[in-house]
Amino acid sequence: MKFSRRDLLIGTAGVTAGIVFTPVPWKLLGDVSIWSQNWSWIPQPAHGPVETTLSPCTLCAAGCGMRVRMAAGFPVGISGVANHPLTKGALCTLGYAAHQLNWHPARLLRVRHSGRASSWPEAQAAFAAACAEGPIAVMDGRPGRAASVALETFAAKHNGSYQTVPGPETQALAPYAAWSGVPASTLGYDLENARTIVSFGAPLLDGWGTPGRFTRLWSARAAGQSDPQLRLIQIEPVLSHTAARAWRWLAVREGTQGALAAALARVLVEEHLVKAQGPLPEMTLEQAAVQAGLPIAEIRDLAHAMVEHGPTVVITSDGDPAVAALNVLLGAVGTPGGIILKSKVIPRHGAASTAPAKFRATVIDASVPWDLIPPAQGEVFRFATWDGGDSKADWLLPSPGFLEELTDIPTAPTSATETYAIATDLLAQPQETQTAAQFLRKIDASLPDVDKSIHARCEQIFQARLGTIYAGQSKPVAQFESAAKLEEQLRKGGVWLSEPPRNATLHCALKIWPAAAATAPAAPTDWTSTWAPPVLPPLAAKLYQESTVREAPARRLA
Ligand code: SF4
Repeated sequence: MKFSRRDLLIGTAGVTAGIVFTPVPWKLLGDVSIWSQNWSWIPQPAHGPVETTLSPCTLCAAGCGMRVRMAAGFPVGISGVANHPLTKGALCTLGYAAHQLNWHPARLLRVRHSGRASSWPEAQAAFAAACAEGPIAVMDGRPGRAASVALETFAAKHNGSYQTVPGPETQALAPYAAWSGVPASTLGYDLENARTIVSFGAPLLDGWGTPGRFTRLWSARAAGQSDPQLRLIQIEPVLSHTAARAWRWLAVREGTQGALAAALARVLVEEHLVKAQGPLPEMTLEQAAVQAGLPIAEIRDLAHAMVEHGPTVVITSDGDPAVAALNVLLGAVGTPGGIILKSKVIPRHGAASTAPAKFRATVIDASVPWDLIPPAQGEVFRFATWDGGDSKADWLLPSPGFLEELTDIPTAPTSATETYAIATDLLAQPQETQTAAQFLRKIDASLPDVDKSIHARCEQIFQARLGTIYAGQSKPVAQFESAAKLEEQLRKGGVWLSEPPRNATLHCALKIWPAAAATAPAAPTDWTSTWAPPVLPPLAAKLYQESTVREAPARRLA
């Protein structure tokens, strides 16, 4: 079974609602607690002082703020940080149980080669030989980290290709990147200033973006209101969790969201509801309405609703350019409440180089989702913390687990504001493990060191004198006396938020109306799966297997 972060977020939402409204989840949580204690691989912590420390979650790109309870040096409980400026106390189910993951029986602690036990020296020798024989590719699932600098530099210095594996949220921003010429990772949604959000299938209320961000906005400005300050219009074929709570739900025929976007474009331009005069799709309103299976009057009504309560932004569940083009017509690109450009305090890394045809070897960083199928050609060196099964990689290389490595957390994909956090190694890195960056530095000692790259980034934030550090209390960067003091706060679980860029120009030029994406709409579980966990801790597994609070992924996809 494949799990995405969205599944886990739905789990959290369901449990939270259930705890409030029904007695069933109390029983469930009791069961979980008994059941978890009986798992043979869950360690019993030694007696010792209990301390609480703050850290960003490192399991996916959202970087949620966590309060980690440590007993005798081991994490024994995790909760959200209520005053965290991004996640405001929210975590997904995986985050709540993340401390159990390091002891999972599928944890990788031995190097494996072609299914057999091997060793780090053998892997190192095989990779060094591969580097000498031909080009290599390095795949990074979470570009922009300090470790990414090492991966990117290695590829560049060794005639290789650095490739990023963008999550669905980043892919949804790809059309604007293509039209404006800026990388998708530099774009974000200014939801806080939007008053109408038109979601083409994006699960905004059950697993989209950073936990807590949209759900808090929605509960403050929309929940339970018949004429809410924030209108959510959900367009999708099924009555999803998000559709059921939206201000309006429009049931469009499966696979025809591009046609509906074309129909809306025609109404917006032909009835002068927007300033833009085109481009227009070739399809007529009548043809598009027939395809979408909706009456023309309903489409007209929707187009009027989109502009009467602005700013309006359209969010897609995939990178369909035909739907994204609506934001260009609405003037929602580069304006408050729309798609905006983030500030650039920390230099961008991770612009993937174009892929040559063939590689002698491919290195896959542990941040790449387990379900990515490695390239068939060349030798594959895959780093992973857990063995999710059916690996096609030649080499499986054990990586540090949860909170076992120093890493940084750059801005989350959908965020409108640049952010930065540091997760320190609260637990000692097991000697059987290496990160991809550590492995590559053994081949090339001149590669940038993660620790030094983190220092450099803190210095850049300090020098820019922009934004605020939130670490219990907020403190403007301009009030820090040194970069070292600023870094100290970040290493204690603080987070830096930049200021939204003023006067940042973002111009999307559309000469013709784009064709709708040829691919079928993405399955809901793929959305926000920036990191699909190959294994689940007992708490999350229990919720999947025995809870009726939420539907299991297989049932939802049926
Ligand atoms: S959404 Fe990602 S960062 Fe947040 S708690 Fe879940 S796994 Fe961790």
